Amino acid sequence: MSAVLPVLMYHSIGPVPTGSRRRSIFVGTRAFARQMALLAHCGYRGVTMDEAHAVLQGGVVSPEKLCALTFDDGFLDNITAALPILRRHGHRATCYAVSDRIGQRNRWSQDVLGVTSPLADEGALRAWIDAGMELGAHTRTHARLTTLDDATLEDEVGGGKRALEDRFGLRVSQFCYPWGAHDDRVVEAVRRAGFAGATTTVRGRARIGVDPLRVPRVHVLNQHHLPQFWLKLATGYGDRR
Ligand SMILES: [Zn+2]
Repeated sequence: MSAVLPVLMYHSIGPVPTGSRRRSIFVGTRAFARQMALLAHCGYRGVTMDEAHAVLQGGVVSPEKLCALTFDDGFLDNITAALPILRRHGHRATCYAVSDRIGQRNRWSQDVLGVTSPLADEGALRAWIDAGMELGAHTRTHARLTTLDDATLEDEVGGGKRALEDRFGLRVSQFCYPWGAHDDRVVEAVRRAGFAGATTTVRGRARIGVDPLRVPRVHVLNQHHLPQFWLKLATGYGDRR
């Protein structure tokens, strides 16, 4: 068993929208398909954060090479573009949804990107869940949690969890910090809300025994070609890029 379990971070899978000021969070569908095929070819199985948690915390020993796949924000194209590719290779993944923004657009990115994209509606997220994928939480409104007072923090974190659980009739145990913003107070709120695990935007490959509420990730971005993708996954290369 490897002591490392890389957690890959994706956002949107598809073309860069016209007028977008940044390309990085949009990974092309063909590039994503090549990445998922490479994983399978090299004997890796993509897993959810719930599965990864069991391994990272040392309770479950896996004889396989594992790699967790995460999608932030709940873009509609995670279901329309990424899901068929994941299924083709038998990979599983976690999609972190913003509970008050289901079926809307990611307006929180307007200032940064100059454009917005459609988020999955309830039916699309049900298709994701029905395919054996995991639904994780990403707050109610994609708030920057470190800036909130205690009551609003609780509502964004715990309220977002309960909203997803009530709507989809399942347990949501994995969280992702919007904008990567977290500090000790925020981490404690996530723990109190009952989450088992949470991912950050800190770069690096997760190691066995990692703090489950501060899991680093490998950023997979538009500009990464397949060799770079592989270096980031299989070596420490991505810890700096
Ligand atoms: Zn986000």
